[in-house]
Amino acid sequence: MPRTNHPRRRRNSFSGAPADEPGPDLDRARLGIPQRESAPDGDWAVRTITARNAQKVYTCPGCHRSVEPGVAHLVVWQEDALFGAEAGLRERRHWHSNCWRTRSYRYR
Ligand SMILES: [Zn+2]
Repeated sequence: MPRTNHPRRRRNSFSGAPADEPGPDLDRARLGIPQRESAPDGDWAVRTITARNAQKVYTCPGCHRSVEPGVAHLVVWQEDALFGAEAGLRERRHWHSNCWRTRSYRYR
């Protein structure tokens, strides 16, 4: 009779990490490399937030409704922001994926 005697020890790399808002740098490292999108209203960095990573309520600038926790969506910021990429990142918005794709370019 084979015995699987592997100790199921998983290293929890998240232990000790603060559960709430990390700084922008940490945030960026965690979120990884965004996709670039060039549009008539500017150059945008677009990141997909998975359902698992969506943990807060945001207001979608497209439809002004809330993006609920547990709903996969997009976080978007401006690469060519007036005050630089860092400012753009601070002003990032959470969009419903659908609202972003169908947005009008007039919102800013
Ligand atoms: Zn929306």
